Amino acid sequence: MFPQNPKNYPPEPSGNQAYCPLCEARYNPFFARVLETKDEAHLLHSECESCGSYIISLVSNTPFGLSSIGIITDLTAADVLKFKDKPEITSDDVIEFHQQFQKDQKDN
Ligand SMILES: [Zn+2]
Repeated sequence: MFPQNPKNYPPEPSGNQAYCPLCEARYNPFFARVLETKDEAHLLHSECESCGSYIISLVSNTPFGLSSIGIITDLTAADVLKFKDKPEITSDDVIEFHQQFQKDQKDN
């Protein structure tokens, strides 16, 4: 079985279309929200209309052309803005939380 329109097969990302990495539905990246722009790099947040997953992508303009890295996330655009500049959680933080938690349980 060959597709009806072999010219468009296999589908290739074009200038104004992107594919959801989960369900492969096409979506228009113009609906993506630009969260931050630094020099030639843009941090984008988009939602797949088909499966509802969120995708964060870093699109940068390099001397070799546009480069794009995307990850699937459950963070909303607001969550990304909230956490992007926060320091990472260290193992010391986890131990401290655990000790405080145990202390609180003893006290009660
Ligand atoms: Zn999807």
